[in-house]
Amino acid sequence: MSKARTGADIERLDTWHKYRNGLCSDCRASCCTLPAEARMSDLVRMGVVDAFEAEEPLKPIARRLEKAGIIEHFNFRNELFTLARRANGDCVYLDAATRRCTIYQRRPDTCRNHPRIGPRPGYCAYVPLG
Ligand code: SF4
Repeated sequence: MSKARTGADIERLDTWHKYRNGLCSDCRASCCTLPAEARMSDLVRMGVVDAFEAEEPLKPIARRLEKAGIIEHFNFRNELFTLARRANGDCVYLDAATRRCTIYQRRPDTCRNHPRIGPRPGYCAYVPLG
């Protein structure tokens, strides 16, 4: 099967490509500009919250992580933290040069499950490098 050549418009789900193995290899990691939500268990795995702090109230933890530039938002009701993004929309954990995740082995479940679970399940915003 030939590779999709046209980049998707991340804002328009109808332009997203049906995901298939290998599509990520020459993609500019546009999925890593989407809001990446993380639960406390993700933050512990990422090593930004330790197991003892994880037992504490979430709001002060969220404040600390926001100050540290690790998260940009905390949804108290759903206990969901959104990872911070740079001015260009990239996740703070994305390597700007290689377009690869710098915490790949420890990345949140949201990232692991994309695009099986996401804005358009089974589809991704493939944009070729270059
Ligand atoms: S944590 Fe890694 S995989 Fe997840 S959005 Fe950030 S750079 Fe991408």
